[in-house]
Amino acid sequence: MRRVSILGATGSIGQSTIDLIRRDREAFDVVALTGDSNIAQLAKDARELGAEIAVTADETRLDELRAALAGSGVTAAAGRAAVIEAATRPADLVMSAIVGAAGLAPGLAALETGATLALANKESLVTAGPLMMATAEAAGARILPVDSEHSAIFQALVGEDLGAVSRVIITASGGAFRDWPMERLAQATVAEASTHPNWAMGQRITIDSASMFNKALEMIEAREFFGLAPAQIEVLIHPQSLVHALVGFNDGALMAHVGPPDMRHAIGYALNWPARRALPVEALDLAAAGTLEFRTPDPARCPALGLARAVMETGGLAGAVFNAAKERALDHFIAGRVGFLEMAPLVETVLERRLEAAGETGGEITLDRVARADHLARQCADEVARELTRRG
Ligand code: NAD
Ligand code: MG
Repeated sequence: MRRVSILGATGSIGQSTIDLIRRDREAFDVVALTGDSNIAQLAKDARELGAEIAVTADETRLDELRAALAGSGVTAAAGRAAVIEAATRPADLVMSAIVGAAGLAPGLAALETGATLALANKESLVTAGPLMMATAEAAGARILPVDSEHSAIFQALVGEDLGAVSRVIITASGGAFRDWPMERLAQATVAEASTHPNWAMGQRITIDSASMFNKALEMIEAREFFGLAPAQIEVLIHPQSLVHALVGFNDGALMAHVGPPDMRHAIGYALNWPARRALPVEALDLAAAGTLEFRTPDPARCPALGLARAVMETGGLAGAVFNAAKERALDHFIAGRVGFLEMAPLVETVLERRLEAAGETGGEITLDRVARADHLARQCADEVARELTRRG
C-alpha cells in the first residue's frame, strides 16, 4: 500500500488523482486531503477514501467542514498552517496540486519529511526551484513531475545520461486563441480565454495557456527540474497536443513522448513510479489522428515566452517576481480591469521595477525572501494595473 496525501484535492488535478485512486483502492491508502472553498467535495472524498484528515485552507470554513465530516472519523482542520501540517503527515507520496504560489510552502514541508513529491504545482519550481531541489536532496526525497510535458521529458530520460542531452522541446497547443488575429486578441473575454481546445483544466491554467504564460512557467520549470541551460529549452506550437515533449541527444536522436491529452497519464505515472500500472487512458489511434503539425511560436503573439527567457537568464528571485506578477495580472484580467494583451506588458513592467529596485537577482533563495519578493511584486502589479486602467 502506498500512503498518499493530496494537496489541492478538490481541483482539476486533485480530482483526477482521486479518480485514479478510486479505481485502484488496493494500491493506495489516503492520509490527508486539502482543499479551499469546495467543502462539500472535500468532505465527500475524505469520507469515501477514509482519509485521516481533511483540511480547508479557508479558516472561516472550519465549522462547516466539521459538520460535513460528522460521524465519519475523519479529522477536520482549517487554515494555512493546517494545510502545511497535513503535508507533513507520514506519507509515501504527496501530490502537490494547489494552484499558484500558495503551493510552495506545503510542498516544501512535504519534501522535508522525505516523502516523494508528485509535483503539479509548477509555481513552486518557478518561484523557488533551487530551494525545492536542495530541500529534496537534503531530505533524500524525490520530486516527480506531473506537468504533462515534464513527465514526458522524465519518461524519455529513463536509462539515459543527462550529460548526453542537447536540448528539450516542450510543445504548446497554442490555447484558445491559437488562430485568432492579433486585433481580436485585444478584445478577448475571460469566458473565451477559459475554454481550452484540447485539455480540461482549472480556469487559471486554462487562461495561462491562452496567453502562453503557462508555457513560460513550464520553460522555467524544465530548467529547474532537469538542470538545463536556458538555450537548451525550446517551445514548439503543436495544435494536436499528442506529442507532449521531445528530448534531443548529442547523437541527433529525438525521443518523443506521445499520448492523448489526458492528465491521468502523467498523474498515474507519478503515483505508480517506478512501476507502470494500467491506467484508464485511451489508446492513441495515430492513423485517426492523421497529421501532427509543429511550428515555431511567433514572438509577437507570445511575449510571455521572451519574458521567461529573460527570467531564466536573470535567475535569483526573478522567477518569484515573474510568477507573482503573472498571478496578479491574471486576477486583474479575470476581474475585467486589464485586457488580455495587457497582461504581458504588466508583468514586464513589474519585472523591470522590482528587479532593479530590490536587488532581487542574487543571493540564496529562502522561503522568506521568496515570500517577500512575491508580496512586493503583487503590490507593484496592482500599481501597474491601476496605471493601465487610468490610461485606458
Ligand atoms: P484548480 O484551480 O482546479 O485547483 C486548485 C486546487 O488548489 C483546489 O483544490 C483549491 O481548493 C486549492 N487552492 C486554491 N487556492 C488555495 C490556497 N490559497 N491555499 C490552499 N489551497 C488552495 O487547479 P488545477 O488546474 O488542478 O491546477 C493545480 C496545479 O497543477 C497548478 O499549479 C497547475 O499549474 C498545475 N497543473 C495543472 C494541470 C491541469 O490539467 N489542470 C496540468 C499541469 C499542471
Ligand atoms: Mg503542462
